[in-house]
Amino acid sequence: MKITNHDLFLSITPDKHFLEAKDTIYFDGVCDFVELHLGNRCTIHKAYTKSGEVPFEAVHTHKFTTVYRFQPNHDSLTIEYEGLFDRFKGYGVCAIHKHCVELSGFGFFFPTIEKNSQLERFTYSLEVALPNSWRVVAPDDRDIQNIPEDERRFHFQNHKIEDILVCASPDYKRHHRKSLTMILPKLDPSVAKGMLKDFENSVDLCTETFGKLRSGMTTTGIVSPRGEGSQEWGYERGHLWVIGDLFLQYACANDWRFGGLKKSLALHETIHSWIGIGVKMPIYLAEAITQYCEVVLTQKIYQEAGLDRRYFAWYEERLLEKIKEKDFAPASLDVTDDHYAFWYLKGSLAFYDLEKRVGRKRLLLAFNDLYQNHHGTFLDESDVRTALEKSLDLPLKRFFDHWMHTPGYKPLH
Ligand SMILES: [Zn+2]
Repeated sequence: MKITNHDLFLSITPDKHFLEAKDTIYFDGVCDFVELHLGNRCTIHKAYTKSGEVPFEAVHTHKFTTVYRFQPNHDSLTIEYEGLFDRFKGYGVCAIHKHCVELSGFGFFFPTIEKNSQLERFTYSLEVALPNSWRVVAPDDRDIQNIPEDERRFHFQNHKIEDILVCASPDYKRHHRKSLTMILPKLDPSVAKGMLKDFENSVDLCTETFGKLRSGMTTTGIVSPRGEGSQEWGYERGHLWVIGDLFLQYACANDWRFGGLKKSLALHETIHSWIGIGVKMPIYLAEAITQYCEVVLTQKIYQEAGLDRRYFAWYEERLLEKIKEKDFAPASLDVTDDHYAFWYLKGSLAFYDLEKRVGRKRLLLAFNDLYQNHHGTFLDESDVRTALEKSLDLPLKRFFDHWMHTPGYKPLH
């Protein structure tokens, strides 16, 4: 069972941090029952189809979402719920502030069948009721420039899910450069310039490394407000990437260094336009390859002697520290688990290990092949393995079993 479309109406009351939603979900067939994930801060009041009310029950509660089971016996289902926003929790991002509304946290607004709401693919029509003084803009709204501002909010019909970012802000400005768009809050001009330059460098470097980005992928970045205590620093949805303003603040205060190491703010999420979104694959693998590429491309940008080695040494140290406490194989973890050390740190160290066997240049060329031959498709782990084996002319079953399906940390090379 798949969701094909949502008709979602949201009414938002910013001062009360409250939203009301009415969502009609269309499926690709008639179903006797369906299980949907919905953010834990939402409460469902009612579920119905054209033939009347539909019984539902909560069957499981995860860290961020609850799974509800419905019996629609119909190819569509409408649910009405209310929820709280303006707090940031985990990967289900939702920030609604006085000057910016960001509804990219589908986990909270779109009930999904996939546990990882980022993997859900459906079209939607979205209507948002906001206070009158608020303006709604899309990440790339050049196509609606001619529409009067107060009507723009109704022009978000049937976009692909990756498009969605609604942001209301008189303060935010779009900066265009080549095919890039950046949406930035009011920043010191030198900071804004630095962000744009960083983004441009990242896109140029990724193009050079993985090949030209295919059409249908626009490149948009936004600096977004985050609530207190936010953990996640950014994410990517194919058409745009987001980083939190707190990370930018931290970066500016520390000469763009994290753990003492120079870091691009745009690079990781930009790489995902090629790896993970450009070529879709299981998320642990997408993060492993992306994090590895982030380090080696960071080295190319800043060209500080030994920067890459220091990054991997730092990752190793943190991974070993984590393993003392708990130890998992990357592939065994879910997006709702505590996965950072295993997907990002161990994952990137896996490809650093492979680099020692085949060389950096060949490994990056293999990722270029991967994008060129498979962009726009989903590869499971064995497909990724087959593709890399072909490019590298090397059997990799042992490599994947060892790094992705076995706990512990033991480089092969
Ligand atoms: Zn990532």
